Amino acid sequence: EWTQHARFDGPIVLVGFGSIGRGTLPLIERHIAHDKAKFTVIAPDDSDRALLDERGIAFLHVGLTKENYVDVLKPLLTANGEKGLVINLSVDVSSVAMVQLCKELGALYIDTVVEPWPGFYTDTRLTVSQRSNYALRESMMDLRRASPGGPTAVTTCGANPGMVSWFVKQALLDIARDTGHPVASEPTTREDWGRLAQTLGVKGIHIAERDTQRAKTPKPKGVFVNTWSVEGFVSEGLQPAELGWGTHEKQLPPLGKHHDFGPDCAIYLMQPGAGTRVRSWTPTAGPQHGFLVTHNEAISIADYYTVTENGRPVYRPTCHYAYHPADDAVLSLHEMAGNAWQRQETWHILTETEILDGIDELGVLLYGHAKNAYWYGSQLSIEETRRIAPYQNATGLQVTSAVLAGVVWAIENPTAGIVEADEMDFRRCLEVQMPYLGPVVGKYTEWTPLDHRGVLFPEDLDRDDPWQFQNVLVV
Ligand code: NAD
Repeated sequence: EWTQHARFDGPIVLVGFGSIGRGTLPLIERHIAHDKAKFTVIAPDDSDRALLDERGIAFLHVGLTKENYVDVLKPLLTANGEKGLVINLSVDVSSVAMVQLCKELGALYIDTVVEPWPGFYTDTRLTVSQRSNYALRESMMDLRRASPGGPTAVTTCGANPGMVSWFVKQALLDIARDTGHPVASEPTTREDWGRLAQTLGVKGIHIAERDTQRAKTPKPKGVFVNTWSVEGFVSEGLQPAELGWGTHEKQLPPLGKHHDFGPDCAIYLMQPGAGTRVRSWTPTAGPQHGFLVTHNEAISIADYYTVTENGRPVYRPTCHYAYHPADDAVLSLHEMAGNAWQRQETWHILTETEILDGIDELGVLLYGHAKNAYWYGSQLSIEETRRIAPYQNATGLQVTSAVLAGVVWAIENPTAGIVEADEMDFRRCLEVQMPYLGPVVGKYTEWTPLDHRGVLFPEDLDRDDPWQFQNVLVV
């Protein structure tokens, strides 16, 4: 017996049926009451069609394009005069175009990334700044400014971006409790959350992840192997490295640049994220190098926690991803980098049956406060994943359960307009998601990026402030 979190009576359209779409389906079936006859899945590849056929779920074997998406979606989302729900878990489909259409049709919407139409990520006619996630996020924020309110469209609500924004809030409350700043009443506004982070002295936040899932067979040469979308990972890996830029930072990194539009809460480096490493820490790995791959949450979290006085930012945390993917994915990136970032011709996403063992340890590392650094996150294993949900590995389940939480929240809050995970009710979302996250733990660490540095060779370090980005970046 599964807890029914919400009910949705209108048509549901799931766009994309890859590793995340496939894993989301059983969670929707378990926890959202709906009419199967009004459920449609759309994708240009039909490799998992049998899962839909055996359930009697309609499948449209088509890829959405700029030219056809209105014609394909409009009839589905307006059938019987009911309002629909779009769960967009595809690649190569513009999120902004989808949100715009859903707004027009009064449909609810959710996705896990601000995705552009194909070609954007490697379009050399665009400047590096224009190819950034900062720019993609601003395109969604432009739509929000131009047309505020309306039907709820949850933007970028997977594990990260998504769930990690809920973890940040829980982590802040834990640190407040443990450092003698108990909060009388929990913050309810963006400004109050920013003030809390500022008061606690949080200088920055790493989205610190270590994926130890190992394949049963070694990665063949010339194949990009990952635990989630290879296409998604390669795309974001070739975007510039990006990070929310904190007010405590003393100097821009050598290849760092500011954008010349938008809120200026983030910077980018003139190099790909897949070729940029940072020092970070997770409980299992301890100190590790992760890739500074760009993500929406690095920018949204930095923006959300910015405290302004007289229109100027007086506090903002640095925020970025520090991702150690599965070992096979690290090897795959290395191979790709060696070939001047030319993509391997064969891609493979490890399924739950192809993985021998391992966990996806995904959390947030809040640093710079009175207890140095605090990691709060999920340590979901492949074994537990196999036990509790079908058609996915541990990485997938952290994402799909966040999508489920986002869908529940959207149904419960149907007129919130365009929202990011930072703006949602983190308690409600985590309540829905928690049963799927394995152990969720908080751990303090004394580690800093200055540990054991400059011993064998001199290094250009800031010894006065361990948490300068200068010390974090691997050069
Ligand atoms: P995948 O590569 O396994 O699957 C992508 C799916 O999109 C496939 O079914 C493919 O056929 C479909 N697709 C491709 N072009 C399409 C088009 N034009 N129209 C409709 N469908 C199309 O990817 P995945 O691992 O399932 O990831 C899906 C999305 O979720 C990606 O954008 C990825 O970046 C994102 N993601 C987000 C998070 C997060 O935590 N926020 C985590 C993992 C994945």
